Amino acid sequence: MKAFQFVEWQKPGEIRDVPVPEPGPGQVLIKVGGAGACHSDLHIMEWPGGMLPWALPFTLGHENAGWVEKLGAGVSGFNVGDPVAVYGPWGCGHCYQCVQGVETYCENAATTNGGAGGGGLGLNGGMAEYMLVPSARSLVPLDTLHPREAAPYTDAALTPYHAIKRSLHKLTPRSSVVVIAVGGLGHMAVQILKAMSVAQIIAVDVAQDKLDLAKAVGADHGVLSTDPDAVAKIRELTHGRGAEVVLDFVGLEPTIALGSKILALTGDFTVVGIGMGNINWNFMALPYEVNLTSTYWGTRSELIEVLALAESGKLKGHMTYYPLDKAAEVYELLHAGKINGRAVITPNG
Ligand code: NAD
Ligand code: ZN
Ligand code: ZN
Repeated sequence: MKAFQFVEWQKPGEIRDVPVPEPGPGQVLIKVGGAGACHSDLHIMEWPGGMLPWALPFTLGHENAGWVEKLGAGVSGFNVGDPVAVYGPWGCGHCYQCVQGVETYCENAATTNGGAGGGGLGLNGGMAEYMLVPSARSLVPLDTLHPREAAPYTDAALTPYHAIKRSLHKLTPRSSVVVIAVGGLGHMAVQILKAMSVAQIIAVDVAQDKLDLAKAVGADHGVLSTDPDAVAKIRELTHGRGAEVVLDFVGLEPTIALGSKILALTGDFTVVGIGMGNINWNFMALPYEVNLTSTYWGTRSELIEVLALAESGKLKGHMTYYPLDKAAEVYELLHAGKINGRAVITPNG
């Protein structure tokens, strides 16, 4: 079968011929309906070798959904042909975190799957006709959603869902939330916020077309981060108080600096973007009792919740679909900021 693989550090991926995997005991083979193209793949392909403990090559694509193709020995609860979304972070399954469904923070991550994070993150992912899922525990049945639409919800929606849920108690009717960067994750974040809170939603991006999408999917205001008055405008929109929650889907120094200046007292500043920007902290750098945190992906139960939000129609990703042989081009477009919403690779048409 054809697969879009990451072959060499700091080089773009390429289409290669690889064998169709055979599911062993407990494993499930999925016929891929969709594999989202995430900006994290761009970071991974740009970083020098040695930053991640992964062996190359592997097939890209860590936000996946499809149909059950073949069940390994001993797998029950699913039938061939069932549409399923794949929970992407594959932990050991039995540590304290994994037992709670928090496989992102598996305590045995270093020794599970040879240190790989999951399919498309060190192990073969979904940018191929078929993908192997190591355990049926990682599958969520789909109801009305087509797998090609569901695929990005497993990361581009699950990640903001997790980041938002931990701050929901701060989003009261008098609160504001700022979403910095309205790309694949950010445009889902705006909709999740709209569905789950009554707070005012302010979108920030470098590109006007991204702000237009943000407003179309529920943001109350859009502010260009390149505007020299961006901080003053956000302060005014928040009645001088700043935002109770700031979600940064870039994580570079300029966005972290912007976020620091628009936070309210006791606010939550959550950096989701993996831009690896630094922050200089001292007692006076941020308002009193601000929480600064990173978040990584989401939990198994949160995936079930966010898929329910999509099944209900309250979350509708702005998707563009591409065949497998366009995968390299899709990453070039993503790098150039020319994907609005999420691009999804559909290896089986
Ligand atoms: P994307 O390419 O779809 O969107 C990026 C957006 O950022 C674009 O709209 C772009 O215009 C905007 N942008 C770029 N620079 C900006 C700036 N200085 N100010 C404001 N906006 C700016 O990317 P994505 O797939 O949504 O991913 C976003 C980030 O989240 C990436 O860093 C990715 O690696 C990271 N990510 C993190 C997790 C996690 O678990 N923490 C999961 C998935 C993705
Ligand atoms: Zn991702
Ligand atoms: Zn574990």
